[in-house]
Amino acid sequence: MTTIIAYREVSMRKLTLTAAAMATTALITVSPALANDDHKIVDDPLELTIHLHHVRSTAYDEDWPVEKVAREMTNIHLKNATVGSNSTNSAEAMNLLLATGKLPDIIGSARIKESVDQYGPQGAYVPLNDLIEEHAPHIKAFFDERPELMAAASSSDGNLYYIPYLPDGKYGRAFFIRYDWLDKLGLEVPNNVEELHAVLTAFKTQDPNGNGMADEVPYFARQWEELPRLVTLWGGRSSGSDTYHDFYVDEGKIKYPYMGEGYREGVKNLAQWYEEGLIDAEVFTRGSSAREYLLSENLGGMTHDWFASTSGYNDTLAEPIPGFEFKAFAPPENVNGDRIEEHRRIPVKPDGWAIGGTNKHPVETIKYFDFYFSPEGRRLVNFGVEGQTYNMVDGKPQFTEEFLTNGRPVNSQLYEIGAQLQARGYFQDYEYEKQWSNKYALEGIALYDEGDYLIDQFLGVAMNADEQKVFDKYFASARTYMLEKQQAWILGSSDVEAEWDDYMSQLDRMGMNEVLEVMQSAYDRQYGG
Ligand code: CA
Repeated sequence: MTTIIAYREVSMRKLTLTAAAMATTALITVSPALANDDHKIVDDPLELTIHLHHVRSTAYDEDWPVEKVAREMTNIHLKNATVGSNSTNSAEAMNLLLATGKLPDIIGSARIKESVDQYGPQGAYVPLNDLIEEHAPHIKAFFDERPELMAAASSSDGNLYYIPYLPDGKYGRAFFIRYDWLDKLGLEVPNNVEELHAVLTAFKTQDPNGNGMADEVPYFARQWEELPRLVTLWGGRSSGSDTYHDFYVDEGKIKYPYMGEGYREGVKNLAQWYEEGLIDAEVFTRGSSAREYLLSENLGGMTHDWFASTSGYNDTLAEPIPGFEFKAFAPPENVNGDRIEEHRRIPVKPDGWAIGGTNKHPVETIKYFDFYFSPEGRRLVNFGVEGQTYNMVDGKPQFTEEFLTNGRPVNSQLYEIGAQLQARGYFQDYEYEKQWSNKYALEGIALYDEGDYLIDQFLGVAMNADEQKVFDKYFASARTYMLEKQQAWILGSSDVEAEWDDYMSQLDRMGMNEVLEVMQSAYDRQYGG
């Protein structure tokens, strides 16, 4: 490991020098301003090399139908130069790429933000701010409207080094419950924590699946992290973003969810619920098949999961389980009288693409990036190729009936033709997903929309080298300690009330308060706190 890192440092130093040497000549190449109706960036075809790596596409493919159209429209011809394609691990591929000592013209990757935060300020990547201002009207218009997303994607020196993948649509997960079980037991949809406790107890004790056994699993989750998520019912937090166990922001202050009073109260109550059998006894170990298994065996009563995929069970289980209705319900009112849906889609991802420091055509490249933010480019990258996957109906793209009903997941089909690739910087159009969400998902989303239950997300910070050092020194082991304690408390092997003060002192000794300090300084710098 040490050798690789040392080699990488040497390589990056070399890269930095080359980038600095390039900087003066690079900006001389200026092509005519881009007219709105013409996407041609250069008169003669221009080839640019690209590293494109994501778990769903571990190399760039020139034959993707989407790429062929983009090439025709822009005259920019990308050539695959991906390193590490034999692995689906983008971080590994990125390390291999950096170790070669030369970056291609374009680098697109999952979690590229980590690489650009570290090496952008050293010159390995081209800063994009001025290029966007002068040559990328569509990207500029996007960030002018969402400056907080530009701030979130920027590095510690204030520069933007990558164009992010920007998900669209707000809603991700929701609370789901067996409506047919409620009906059967003469119960209403639970409105608050007490009612939820009563409903889950009835699921456990009144045999709603009617087989004469107390085999129901009232609350279950595919991801065990959805169990501590329930501390929101007692005013606690489990994460500040779409990543589990993330920091959150409370009135400008960075906090860690597993250090608060609401969390403590929530864990105490969840331990009680676990003891009463209201939570899947195997919640920490059952894993990703939990939803499929417990729903199709007519055992599971409630979960917190994604709208579209969870709603899908109403279609697939309608026949085997007569009356089956597993639908979203509003977040129950918590002990403070608030209804909170903690999970939502993050509006900006750490994935996307960047310009390599030795790229001789940064202007053409940013124009190429900008193409995907134009109406035509955005349609291409979201819906695929007109006449093949979609047609224009009343001025809007509509997937063809055949494409929607051929039995294959719509998103997988799109990945295969080069659309919806998250290692490319683009602004997703939620309409693409809406066209294949079933009516239960759309009803659920409308319910959450009406109630306005979502809360603001923590969009992450870019730490400088000193801050990163403190963070790396303490955070991982402190987090491991917190997660071990969390599980022990919920499973009842130790008592949260009795141990809380010691727990907080231990976290102080483990450096968590220093971690919070460096997170705060990075946050203040980035968001002007
Ligand atoms: Ca039963």
